[in-house]
Amino acid sequence: MQKAFRASIFHCLEDPGQHPTSSASEYVEDGLLVVDDGVIDKLGPAADLLPQLADDAELADLRGKLILPGFVDCHVHYSQLDIIAAYGEQLLDWLHRYAYPEEAKFADPVYASEVAEAFLDGMLANGTTTALVFATVHPQSVDAIFDAAARRNLRLIAGKVLMDQHCPEDLSDDPASAYADSKALIERWHGKDRLGYAITPRFALTSSEEQLEAAGRLAAEYPDTWVHTHLAENTEEVEEIARLFPDSRSYLEVYARFGLVRRRSMFAHCLHVDDADRELMASRHAAGAFCPTSNLFLGSGLFDLEAMSEAGVHTGLATDVGGGTSLSMLTTMSEAYKVLHLQGQALPASRAIYLATLGAARALDLDNVIGNFEAGKEADFIVVDPQTHNATARRANSTASIDELLFSLIFLGDDRNVVATYIQGQRT
Ligand SMILES: [Zn+2]
Repeated sequence: MQKAFRASIFHCLEDPGQHPTSSASEYVEDGLLVVDDGVIDKLGPAADLLPQLADDAELADLRGKLILPGFVDCHVHYSQLDIIAAYGEQLLDWLHRYAYPEEAKFADPVYASEVAEAFLDGMLANGTTTALVFATVHPQSVDAIFDAAARRNLRLIAGKVLMDQHCPEDLSDDPASAYADSKALIERWHGKDRLGYAITPRFALTSSEEQLEAAGRLAAEYPDTWVHTHLAENTEEVEEIARLFPDSRSYLEVYARFGLVRRRSMFAHCLHVDDADRELMASRHAAGAFCPTSNLFLGSGLFDLEAMSEAGVHTGLATDVGGGTSLSMLTTMSEAYKVLHLQGQALPASRAIYLATLGAARALDLDNVIGNFEAGKEADFIVVDPQTHNATARRANSTASIDELLFSLIFLGDDRNVVATYIQGQRT
């Protein structure tokens, strides 16, 4: 079934931070996005493409609105949806005081399903169509998020948290069950519909060497699964890791020793890393998640995007809810701008959009299927309307270019502006 969507259309073709803006993105002011059976067929000026449509094509007239690729969130904890904005701690205390007690509730599959639905509702309302998601230590928490995502036909990656030390007893697994449960979940979910599995050690502090070794064994047995963990978020955490692993040159080297730094490895934060770490990540095709609202909220540090880019490490933006304070990738982009501005680094709107779409898809090694509107990719996209509320409407009316409009939406926009989210060409 052919469908066509007429609107202003913007997407990225390359990283605007590393290519001239003119060739890194494409903007068609009166554009037509043509979708066939859930897949992008073509994009171009409406005047050129309208006469070519099939007689029975379904045409949506969205003039005055803006179509963007769906946002991709590279690191988020669905289980922490209900502890967003919990006051006053840095990482290690915050985990014990807020995150762990909430995660313990996910032993109950009914509770897990209820939160999974609310999380996906929130994600889609904010225009995020793909995410790399931490569940909890309970296998049933992974079933809950995958079940809910499969029903909505989402491209989503998730995994069971592995942790067997320095954590509450009721959230602790062990190396053998971590391996067996993860393996069973991989067999059940990885590659089913649009779902993918991520081997998910929480971080090096909460996994014994035996458990990291088991995670590495899984990563080798299932090379097209993802590895998803945290890296060098907080200085106190980094010092603990140095004490626990005195033989490793750095925090990243701990993961590397166990075969966990590889293509499709995603490391959240990467704040307190050095050039040698970044070079290792780049050479292994591992990626980093930039989580600005979380890094500011937990007082963790400032992400150095320039150093990551210069080293050649793929980076995507991420909300990191519930250490992060918003499911909105627009808000995440605006906080990223501020984090970089503080370090004398620029983030033009087109590059912010890149980090939340094609760049994030590249970081997740999914850019062959999502991230922009190249023909053959899956038609996950959003419709943004600047006119839905006063702040964005007034500012939009005084912008002179697509860059100015996008920048104003990043700072002033929210879920009210995301008026429709489409998954494989179907409105959610
Ligand atoms: Zn996190």
